[in-house]
Amino acid sequence: MERNHEKRKELELYLHIPFCVRKCNYCDFLSMPAEEEVRRHYVNCLLEEIMQRGESCREYHVSTVFFGGGTPSLLAGVQIAELMEAIRSSFWVDSDAEITIECNPGTLDRQKLLFYQNAGINRLSIGLQSASNRELQLLGRIHNCEQFLENYDLARKMGFENINVDLISALPGQKTEDWEYTLKKVLELRPEHISAYSLMVEEGTPFYETYGQDAECREQGGHPRELPEEETEQEMYLLTGQMLAEKGYRRYEISNYARPGRECRHNTGYWRGISYLGLGLGSSSLMDETRFSNTRNMEEYLGQCPGFKRENVTVLGKTQQMEEFMFLGLRMTEGISREEFQKKFQVEPEGIYGTALQKLCRENMLKQKEGRIYLTEQGILVSNYVLSQFLL
Ligand code: SF4
Repeated sequence: MERNHEKRKELELYLHIPFCVRKCNYCDFLSMPAEEEVRRHYVNCLLEEIMQRGESCREYHVSTVFFGGGTPSLLAGVQIAELMEAIRSSFWVDSDAEITIECNPGTLDRQKLLFYQNAGINRLSIGLQSASNRELQLLGRIHNCEQFLENYDLARKMGFENINVDLISALPGQKTEDWEYTLKKVLELRPEHISAYSLMVEEGTPFYETYGQDAECREQGGHPRELPEEETEQEMYLLTGQMLAEKGYRRYEISNYARPGRECRHNTGYWRGISYLGLGLGSSSLMDETRFSNTRNMEEYLGQCPGFKRENVTVLGKTQQMEEFMFLGLRMTEGISREEFQKKFQVEPEGIYGTALQKLCRENMLKQKEGRIYLTEQGILVSNYVLSQFLL
């Protein structure tokens, strides 16, 4: 389809591939193991959905595509290529679009990577989580560190120049030096991007059974038995920033670090409030200030094909738009622009958030400089508290 996108609005595409070899012990994402036949059926439905939604997105150009999961790399390479072909023929995809696929070590090989390359995928996001095989086992991951290194090396040799590595800190029993080991190992590889999140113990997961009480105890300021103390967790976070900065990475969002110019365009767009369309099971969308999502029930999703329905349709009012603007924008280290706020809502940020801004600046959680408002180092450490102050 024609690539000239002058006057078209920007859109990001997210495709959800909800399949995994098996569930990790900490995972509450919408993902599941499934037979090959189900996966094939799902891909066929997703192809239909791409074509259906493409029809109603003629006034948009697509700047980023993100295959997330689940484990998108569990699909055959040819299936990803088919999905990309359908996207290109149904949407106006920019010629320089960032196209990312999430991959898990142990599910990649040369043939798959070749398919990705030929389909124009230019960014890999590899879920390593830890460089320690003991920790990987505890997390219930399907791979070990050696498999990750092999896959990473192969991707580099095949010419992938934009790779993210996902990591998780604050694991049960983890000490700061264990986390330092993982960071060191990953930094040796010099990936373009590193995402480093702290473990969240989510309800409904095996981890919740084992560490739920511990997590609650820590939240209430007590001493957890197996999870790291809050202080240790903060120490790990500070160490991450420091070690990565020494190697030339910039923290551009609370948990995301990139070498110059390698920030993830897809996520940055999301935090900046660019419209996004989610395709596939359970995916959510925000277009023209309207939120909607797909069913989270696999049978229902497959049964809807080819007439996919939008669920939970909500038109965001001004208040919600302002909350989103602050809530998402402040996640980025460059913060929000006062001018953009003014332009979008015809009011200064102080007009709405005067009390919160004053209080947070006084507490040294927020800073204002050159027309921008952003979190301080101290504010980042308690970002949940700071961001919650912008809910109206
Ligand atoms: S690979 Fe990712 S999505 Fe799949 S079960 Fe593990 S954490 Fe969840």
